[in-house]
Amino acid sequence: MQILISDPFDASLPHMLTAYGEVTEDKGKLADADVVLVRSKTKCTKEYIDAAKNLKLIIRGGVGLDNVDIAYAESKGILVRNTPKASAIAVAELAFALMISVPTNLIEVHNGMKRGEWLKQMRRTELYGKTLALIGMGNIATKLAERAVAFGMRVVAYDKYVKESPIATMMESPEEAVQDADYISLHLPLTDETKGLVCYRLIDACNKAPVLINTGRGLCVDADCVVEALREGKLSWYATDVYPSDPPAADYPLLKCDRVTLTPHIGANSEENLLRIGEEVLYIIDELVKGGKL
Ligand code: NAD
Repeated sequence: MQILISDPFDASLPHMLTAYGEVTEDKGKLADADVVLVRSKTKCTKEYIDAAKNLKLIIRGGVGLDNVDIAYAESKGILVRNTPKASAIAVAELAFALMISVPTNLIEVHNGMKRGEWLKQMRRTELYGKTLALIGMGNIATKLAERAVAFGMRVVAYDKYVKESPIATMMESPEEAVQDADYISLHLPLTDETKGLVCYRLIDACNKAPVLINTGRGLCVDADCVVEALREGKLSWYATDVYPSDPPAADYPLLKCDRVTLTPHIGANSEENLLRIGEEVLYIIDELVKGGKL
C-alpha cells in the first residue's frame, strides 16, 4: 500500500505508518497513492482525485471536510474520513485565548510596552459574570463552555441539531442566544445554511455590543456587515482565526479594521493535537485494514 502524506502532520507519523505500507511525502507520487493524508492545504478537487488513479482512502486530519469533494470521491468508491474529536481542546483553548485577550487589552498594552508607553490607565473588564453565547454546540463549543463555566461565565447556546447540553442553556434561535451576550463564539461547519449566518439580522438582535469570536469558518460571517457593526459600535470586537481563504486576500475588509484580533488559522496547530490527529489516522487505517477494506 502506498501512503502519501500531502500536508504537515506530526513528525512521528511517517514512521508509524510504515507498518501499513510505503510512505512518501513526495506529492509527485499522487498517481500511485492508495491513501492520501491531507490537512487544510491540499484541496481534493475532482481534478486532484482524477489524478490519483489508485486512490482508495482520503483522510483529512482535522474536523471540517470542505477541502474534499466528498460526493465525487465517494462516487468513485473512495472512502473519506476525518478526525472529528482530536482538535476540540486545541481549538477551544485558542477561542478562549482570543476571548480573554480582549477584556484584558492584552495586545494593546503589550504593543504599548514595546513602543515605550506605560498604558496603566487602560481599564480592564473581567470574564467573570458575563454571558457567552455559543453558536453551534458540538465538540469544540462544549470544551469552550467547560472553560467558560470554570471562569464564572453564564453559557447559552444555539444549535440547529443539538437541543440539550449538560453545560449550556440551549436557546431556540441564534437571535435568542445572542440577546444578552457579552461574548459570542462561532463553532459551525460551513454549509449553505451557516454561510453568512452572522449578518445584520443577528447583530441587530444583540442588546449589548458583544465581542464576536470565530474559530469555525470565515465565511460564516458576512465580513462587510461585521466591519459596519464594529464601526457603529454594535460589536465591540472581532477576534478570528478563520478567513474566506488561507491566507485571506489582501483586500479582505477585516484585515484593516480597528478592534480586530487576527490569528493565521492556528486553532488545530498544537503539538498535542497533531499527535492526537496522528493517533486517529493510525486507528482509521488499522480498522480499515482489519476490515479488509484496504
Ligand atoms: P461539531 O460537528 O462537533 O460541531 C458543529 C455543530 O454545529 C454541530 O453540533 C451541528 O449540529 C451544528 N450545526 C450544523 N449546522 C448548523 C446550523 N445551520 N445552525 C446551528 N448549528 C449548526 O464540530 P466541531 O469539532 O465543534 O468543529 C466546529 C467547526 O470548527 C468545524 O466545522 C470547523 O469548521 C471548525 N474548526 C476550526 C479549526 C481551526 O483551526 N480554527 C479546527 C477545527 C475545526
